[in-house]
Amino acid sequence: MSQIIVIGSSNTDMVVKAAQLPGPGETVLGGTFLMNSGGKGANQAMAAQRLQTGGGQVVFIAKVGNDVFGREAIQAFEKAGLDTRFILQDRQAPSGVALIGVDDEGENSIMVAPGANANLSAGEVSDALGEMPDAEWVMLQLEIPLDTVKSAIAECTRKGLKVVLNPAPAQRLDDEFLKNIHLIIPNETEAELLTGISITDTNTVREAASILHKKGVENVVITLGAKGAFLYNATTDLLVLAPMVEAIDTTAAGDVFCGALVVALSEGKSLADGAAFACQAAALSVARMGAQPSIPSREEVETAMG
Ligand code: ATP
Repeated sequence: MSQIIVIGSSNTDMVVKAAQLPGPGETVLGGTFLMNSGGKGANQAMAAQRLQTGGGQVVFIAKVGNDVFGREAIQAFEKAGLDTRFILQDRQAPSGVALIGVDDEGENSIMVAPGANANLSAGEVSDALGEMPDAEWVMLQLEIPLDTVKSAIAECTRKGLKVVLNPAPAQRLDDEFLKNIHLIIPNETEAELLTGISITDTNTVREAASILHKKGVENVVITLGAKGAFLYNATTDLLVLAPMVEAIDTTAAGDVFCGALVVALSEGKSLADGAAFACQAAALSVARMGAQPSIPSREEVETAMG
C-alpha cells in the first residue's frame, strides 16, 4: 500500500429543498434544510480513506476557517481516520460554504463562498509536502487557487509522486498544466472545455482523450455519468460500463469515482481493473442520498463486484 495525499477544498454544504427554486428577488417558503460536509477535496479524501485497506491514513492538505464549520469538518475527518495534521486554520477568512437550492425535479442552483479555500497558498502546500517524503500518490482538483495547484503539481512531479488531477469545476487550463500529469479524470463537460471536442459518442470521447494524452497526460479517464468511463493510454482504449442502479442522488459521484480509482491504482491494480472498481463504488454512492454519507465501504464494493 502506498501513501495517498489529497490537496483541495473543504466546504460545508447547506441544502434547502423546496418545490421550486426562487427567481431573482423572490422568497420561497416550505423547504427542508440539510447541512453536509462537502468540497471536492474533502469528498475525495474521505472516499479514498473509506475505500482503502490495511489501516493506512490518507493525508488531506486543506484550509478551513477558525469557526464552527471548520472545527466540525476537522472532527469529522479525524473520526473517519484521515491524517489532519496539514489542515490549516485561516485566522481571517471563514470556512468555505456552498448554498444549494434543490427543487422537486432535482434541479439545483448553487452559490459557493470559497472562504479559506481561496487562501491555501503554494508555500503552505510545499511546507506540508516537505514533511511527507514517502508519499507516492497525490490527487488535486480546482477548488483552491490555480497557482497553488500548478506549483503543487510541479513540486510533486519533481519529487517523483504520481499526480492525479480531477479538473473540476470545469475551466480552461493552459497546456503547461497538463504536462507531467500521471492521470487526469475529467467528466464530459470538463473534457470538452479542455479539448474543444464536443463529446457525443465513443469516437468523440476517444478523440478528446487522445488530445489530452498528446498534451502530456499519461493516463486519461473521462467519466460519462450513467454510461461509465472511457480509459485511454498508450496501450488501453476502453469503455468501462457503469453498473445499472436506480439513481437517488448523484452528488459527489465523480468524487467517489476519483477516490476509488486512486486507491485501486495505489494498490497496483491496472487502469481497467481500477476503473471497474471505481465505477462500482460510484454506482453504490448514486443509489444513496448525500455526498460523504453516500461513500460505500470497501466491503460493500467488493461484495457488489462479486
Ligand atoms: P458529480 O458532479 O455528480 O459528482 P461528475 O459530473 O463529476 O459527477 P459523472 O461522469 O457524472 O461525474 O459520474 C462519475 C462516475 O459516477 C461515472 O463515471 C459513473 O461511474 C458513476 N455514475 C454517475 N451517475 C451514475 C448513474 N446514474 N448510474 C451508475 N453510475 C453512475
